[in-house]
Amino acid sequence: MSTESRPNDRRLALFPLPFQGHINPMLQLANILHAKGFKITIIHTVFNSPNQSNYPQFTFKSISDGLSESKNINFNLDTTNPVVNFMNRSCIEPFKDCLLRLLKEEPIACLITDALWHFTQSVADSLNLPRIVLRTSSMSCILVYAAIPILNENGYLKTTIQEDPIPDLAPITNKDILKVFNDEFKEGKLELISSMIKNTKAASGIIWNTFKELEESAFSVISQDFCVPNFPIGPFHKYFPAYSSSLLEQDRSFMSWLDQQPDRSVVYVSFGSIAQMDEVGFTDMAWGLANSKQRFLWVVRPGSVSGSEWLESLPEGFIEEVGERGCIVKWAPQQEVLAHRAVGVFWTHNGWNSTLESICEGVPMICSPYSYDQPINARYVTDVWRVGVMLDNGMETARVIKRVIEDKEGGEMRERSKSLQEKVNLSLGKGGSANQSLENLVDYILTL
Ligand code: UDP
Repeated sequence: MSTESRPNDRRLALFPLPFQGHINPMLQLANILHAKGFKITIIHTVFNSPNQSNYPQFTFKSISDGLSESKNINFNLDTTNPVVNFMNRSCIEPFKDCLLRLLKEEPIACLITDALWHFTQSVADSLNLPRIVLRTSSMSCILVYAAIPILNENGYLKTTIQEDPIPDLAPITNKDILKVFNDEFKEGKLELISSMIKNTKAASGIIWNTFKELEESAFSVISQDFCVPNFPIGPFHKYFPAYSSSLLEQDRSFMSWLDQQPDRSVVYVSFGSIAQMDEVGFTDMAWGLANSKQRFLWVVRPGSVSGSEWLESLPEGFIEEVGERGCIVKWAPQQEVLAHRAVGVFWTHNGWNSTLESICEGVPMICSPYSYDQPINARYVTDVWRVGVMLDNGMETARVIKRVIEDKEGGEMRERSKSLQEKVNLSLGKGGSANQSLENLVDYILTL
């Protein structure tokens, strides 16, 4: 992709939210802007700090996040939401002090912070620094989030499940909205979302890890409703891959197994860096894969099954049943796997990075969203872009897998997915919309 450099001596300070799905796009963006000639400082929390040795071209500054000192926060990956709320308070002073120290050394042209770091807007204002937001999910998602106070007032967050699309938010249903709040921290999530929206609208601009052609209608609504410049310059991983920002070590030992499989025959299964499942869900997944009789590569992240370190909950007889047909790993080089000719379908939780990575490789999806933005992404995948199928509770997993791998329906999804892949490439190419947006972003930062 074209990231021609225009020399300038402007320094940018970037502040990623410390979770894999947020660190990857922020560090990719840092690389993109560095290639455009900017000097980059990454401010990061002690918790989940990025691997600095992979980025000798950047300066890193660590700040205290208060997590290790706090006795009130019971942290596990299922409590991401209270942790983010907590850090939005505990990082205020350390972040401000860090910026003051940096400003003594040299001017900062602009701050770029994750949208979920909503406290950074008032810090930026107090120091007279422009703040541009990086939103790491889709445009469609933020429109749904922005409607949540009204949905709440109108009773859509109550527990009656309706499958019909919500007026003005089609194709989103109240079932999807209930899944967004699929945990015990609804109040905290409402607070986080509304602070995020308010402080995103107050920013000097928004950078999106998406491209206009994928979200044409959301883009036009956002251009009207969010009165700040918008820069949809994604997908970022097409400029720079994510492996260097991986917090977990990627296993590549299965690559020779993958090389031996026929074209489009393998189900790649991964539910990202945060989602956790219970033992029953894990056992159901295992039997679904075994009964489908298809080949599979399954990422089981250590700690992702409640109460297990890794594979202790695999049902008895499973390994013997699947034999050479299946491969289980702790963490994979996902983009490389999705680009492999042997992969036929991605069974995913529909984190936005995973969704984009699948679209970019023309791989159809089986969607099993958990929470956050995932139900919204999954609804767009199945009902708007029509490059995947939903796998809901009660459906027969083996049948759904076969539908995508073997049936005509799967072939049609693959065709549509390939055409989205072409649109991505056009958008990123010279004169394409993402390419132009990136040029606009660089010009805009130079005027700040
Ligand atoms: N990922 C990876 N190896 C794996 C599974 C995931 O490198 O085995 C990467 C994936 O490519 C993506 C990120 O982890 O860039 C997950 O982000 P996503 O937004 O999909 O989900 P989250 O982890 O935030 O739920």
